[in-house]
Amino acid sequence: MFDRYGEQCWQFFNPAMLITADLLRKVFGVTYVNDWHKGGDNHYKGLRGIDCEIGATASIHRIGGALDSKFKNVSGREAREYIMKNQDDSSFRLITAIEMHVSHLHWDCRNRNRTHGILPVYPTQDG
Ligand SMILES: [Zn+2]
Repeated sequence: MFDRYGEQCWQFFNPAMLITADLLRKVFGVTYVNDWHKGGDNHYKGLRGIDCEIGATASIHRIGGALDSKFKNVSGREAREYIMKNQDDSSFRLITAIEMHVSHLHWDCRNRNRTHGILPVYPTQDG
């Protein structure tokens, strides 16, 4: 995506996701997503693009509404459990789904009625 669109990639992110990314940074501290630009191995933890072949075919990553977050001081499991137990915290109000049983924190802002809380998703592959 960046090779093709450069800084214009910002236009593809869902604003709810970006707002929530900032809020998660405030709650959990230093956050890591992609690090390919610094020589790391993480490429597809944020925006993937609609024609990306990485992850699930209907992944919210493809439309800029999901992140796979890792935190310096909190594990993905700890962050996930905290969010699920504190769903009414205003910092998490725009999160509509979270993947369970993955080492990182996959969260997203898919268009979904949140009346019954955050949707726990059980992926069959790392989405
Ligand atoms: Zn993900």
